[in-house]
Amino acid sequence: MQQPPVIEIRDLHKSYGSLEVLKGVSLTARRGEVVSMIGSSGSGKSTLLRCANLLEDSQQGDILFKGEAVHWRGTGMHRRPGDAKQVLRIRTNLSMVFQQFNLWSHMTILQNVMEAPLTVLGRDRAEVEEKARAYLAKVGIGDKADAWPAQLSGGQQQRAAIARGLCMEPEALLFDEPTSALDPELEQEVVKVIKDLANEGRTMILVTHDMRLAADVSDTVVFLHQGLVEEMGPPADVFGAPKSERLKQFLSATQ
Ligand code: ADP
Ligand code: MG
Repeated sequence: MQQPPVIEIRDLHKSYGSLEVLKGVSLTARRGEVVSMIGSSGSGKSTLLRCANLLEDSQQGDILFKGEAVHWRGTGMHRRPGDAKQVLRIRTNLSMVFQQFNLWSHMTILQNVMEAPLTVLGRDRAEVEEKARAYLAKVGIGDKADAWPAQLSGGQQQRAAIARGLCMEPEALLFDEPTSALDPELEQEVVKVIKDLANEGRTMILVTHDMRLAADVSDTVVFLHQGLVEEMGPPADVFGAPKSERLKQFLSATQ
């Protein structure tokens, strides 16, 4: 049986001023699915993730979270009363992991992981600490709880950022080029964590330049080109038998 959708994006249009960045994009991530987004720089991948996470609003189209329509446009650009609560609830259910880790430098690793569950979700401190330590151990840096971000390698910092996302116990994880800022030897330790999460059946949308990772973990690969889905399908089709000329060109350029 098909799993229910966690995130559904339908015909999304997004402009910055007169620049139309997303020109009618649709994408669904069902429970337990890994959807990877590939495409050239500037094709709109980060914008789509930011829209999915409600960090950006959009001009047209629909975003649904577990079947619930996001009410955030209202009439004109005004949000309806109560919408801020909905946005917060959905956003806290979609943990985002960025290319640049974005850890708080004035907090220890443990504090970084505990911060949002404590302050945003208002959870019990002892419970959060236990979970935070468990997630740090899970990503292989259980011994770094009391270190400062600057004392960690890039790969360790990114794993801390993933632990921070996991500690929110979200419905889905959104990754925006999580390995792009890392040296090749550090990249693999983050790749391993992402693969483990995929194998656990986590729902994920993964923007990546790492075609091997996309091929390994994805149920669906989406090739975005100039703000449109140019081609999408299972990795065996997208990588093994691409149909679009643009996708063929993109893949040969990334070999
Ligand atoms: P990708 O992640 O695929 O490289 P982005 O979503 O970052 O692409 O960007 C898509 C396009 O939107 C680019 O032309 C970029 O310059 C533009 N863009 C992104 N963010 C903004 C912004 N905040 N203001 C104006 N233009 C933006
Ligand atoms: Mg980007």
